[in-house]
Amino acid sequence: MIKTNLCPCRPTQEILVAVHFTHFVLQGANASALEKEIGSEQFPVNEHYFGLVNFGNTCYCNSVLQALYFCRPFREKILAKVGENGELTLFPLFSSPSASAELFDNYMQQDAHEFLNYLLNTIADLLQEERKQDKTNGRLANGSLDSQNNNSNAPPPSTWVHEIFQGTLTNETRCLTCETISSKDEDFLDLSVDVEQNTSITHCLRGFSNTETLCSEYKYYCEECRSKQEAHKRMRVKKLPMILALHLKRFKYMEQLQRYTKLSYRVVFPLELRLFNTSGDATNPERLYDLVAVVVHCGSGPNRGHYIAIVKSHDFWLLFDDDIVEKIDAQAIEEFYGLTSEISKNSESGYILFYQSRD
Ligand SMILES: [Zn+2]
Repeated sequence: MIKTNLCPCRPTQEILVAVHFTHFVLQGANASALEKEIGSEQFPVNEHYFGLVNFGNTCYCNSVLQALYFCRPFREKILAKVGENGELTLFPLFSSPSASAELFDNYMQQDAHEFLNYLLNTIADLLQEERKQDKTNGRLANGSLDSQNNNSNAPPPSTWVHEIFQGTLTNETRCLTCETISSKDEDFLDLSVDVEQNTSITHCLRGFSNTETLCSEYKYYCEECRSKQEAHKRMRVKKLPMILALHLKRFKYMEQLQRYTKLSYRVVFPLELRLFNTSGDATNPERLYDLVAVVVHCGSGPNRGHYIAIVKSHDFWLLFDDDIVEKIDAQAIEEFYGLTSEISKNSESGYILFYQSRD
């Protein structure tokens, strides 16, 4: 059954998210039907699985929250925060002054990927703000006096959101006239890759790091030649994140239709992943990743459809569909690769993949 994910603009949106999350984190005492199904023998100690109520088309929030909750490093930090300050701090956490209602007033904010970005950036902003407050008060979070000078031009401090999700890309450009290579690093919290029919994540990552030729009107200004020149450009991963969030660009703007359409292409994603598109000076190129969660888009288009999440918890794979939680076989994950047929766009396809590093 396909539900709509159209979400009417509502100023209380952030609060709803907070309500979800507090319920979600704090309801740990009850036993669910699923726990009975799995059986007390096999059931992991101190683990509980709870669905999230859909408060009027909030499945895009629900699916992302469930996926993040099963990213262990993220969960530990959130639970520590709850332990530190109690549930109330989760409200400001998800209702910062910078978050305005209009952020949710377009399709983009009903998109699970946009929501993930919004959520991670908002948490990071609030942690940085909290740290700044502590500094102003002359105290750091650990209670020690701050001896560093207060340099307002310094970049904002790194937070646990960055420790978990941030990686670095290096963008190398080689001038084809003088061969000078210039590189520029940029940080990311997730990687967005293009998708093609009947491919794999490895293929998508190869496409992401393909050498691109900058020519004609796109020529590159070479500092060495002091003029516009043809150049080769490529993007590689220099620092691999602890959790790699891969966003499959399944929503594409079609000029002829003047709207976004869904690419339901079949893109195989492995349970284990090693990146190969790393730079020569990468700090940790050998990192081996395990798939821990997938946000799945169900339906035919960005404004029509539904989001669910599949997650790995201990040795189980679970499917969270708002308030419904089901145990699934690992083989069933194949059903979320997408479709080989171009005719039907109505697929349940992997949209955001969360890979956690083994080390
Ligand atoms: Zn040059």
